[in-house]
Amino acid sequence: MTAVAETLSAVKFTDRINRIEPSATMAVVAEADKLRQQGIDVVDFGAGEPHFPTPQHIKDAAIAAIQNNFTKYTAVGGTAELRDAIFHRHAADFGSDYRREETVASVGGKHALFNAIQILVDHGDEVILPVPYWVSFKDIVRYAGGNCVLLESDEQQGFRVTAEMVARLVTQRTRLIILNSPSNPSGAVMSPEDLKEVVRFATERGIWVLSDECYVYLNYSGEKFSIGSLQEYRERILVIGSLSKTYAMTGWRLGYALAPAAVISGMQKLQSQSTSNPTSIVQKAAVAALNGPQECVEQMRQEYIRLRDHVVEGLRSIPGVACTLPMGAFYAYPNISSFFGRDGVKSASDVAGRLLREAHVATVPGEGFGTRDHIRVSYATSEKELDRGLKRMRSFLTSL
Ligand code: GLU
Repeated sequence: MTAVAETLSAVKFTDRINRIEPSATMAVVAEADKLRQQGIDVVDFGAGEPHFPTPQHIKDAAIAAIQNNFTKYTAVGGTAELRDAIFHRHAADFGSDYRREETVASVGGKHALFNAIQILVDHGDEVILPVPYWVSFKDIVRYAGGNCVLLESDEQQGFRVTAEMVARLVTQRTRLIILNSPSNPSGAVMSPEDLKEVVRFATERGIWVLSDECYVYLNYSGEKFSIGSLQEYRERILVIGSLSKTYAMTGWRLGYALAPAAVISGMQKLQSQSTSNPTSIVQKAAVAALNGPQECVEQMRQEYIRLRDHVVEGLRSIPGVACTLPMGAFYAYPNISSFFGRDGVKSASDVAGRLLREAHVATVPGEGFGTRDHIRVSYATSEKELDRGLKRMRSFLTSL
């Protein structure tokens, strides 16, 4: 160890930073990048991000913003133009009725989620979280001092969560229920009836419901549905959204929340002491995305359906791999537990680690999502890339 590293390891950091782990998805991004820098050809099924470029009219709006010197601070929670575009889009697509005061723009959906949880969850509060969960939910709750109460779902039922399953875990200490439909990583979709029932009984008991709807436009099970449309329960609902997946804008970092005005004002207060406004140029691009033509969203959705069918078929054809059919988002969540015990492999992390190092295919191990038997495969990539990765996975797994 170098002298600097030794000194750093002796430093005592805060309890709150010690309560959390680095993001498992971001860790895979870093590891895959490292291999690429060594000249290795990695097939990347790791981080979930659209392979489509950001649509041209959105890029043009950002370029125009630079040319027009729209490069200064804006209001912390986003310009009035952007906040209006966010709630108008939601109203048009889901029949909601939010106002500017109930809308905030943040630096990505994860940022909106982080801020919302910091202002709602306190030490000792219980937060109901369906498993498998997206990697950051648990750590963000822990950072706030809350305790996650994990809701186990049934793989045989496609990891589907029902209102009854949620209700069983409610206690006096329940402060918040986190829902994520379509789910990252399982692709499970809750029915509108179940979502409504959760919101109904949560409101009755004074419990908040936070719905991460980053994949709401990538629902393959029928009508897309946002809990934000349940306006009669709006006092207890938070909708977290993102432009990342809907408009292929992951790197731009633009997310939002729709929630009661008091919650939004708390989120803005926190944002005013941390990031300030989302990047001004990105805000202009976001307005173009939300107010502009929406055909691109449906075109991408159709393509994801095709890719989903392709990848699920390919995964299921590998002996020993079982895979549920995802009903939304762009992840397959195959069960690879039949390989445990072969050639020293003991866990999903072993499988994902060796897949990356030996077969050069990046996936995310299930442990980060709260399950031990799975790896997550992002299929937001070309069919050709899917085929290359599936071929490598097949030859690696069958060699175990
Ligand atoms: N949708 C991305 C994923 O789960 C988000 C990455 C992240 O921020 O963790 O891969």
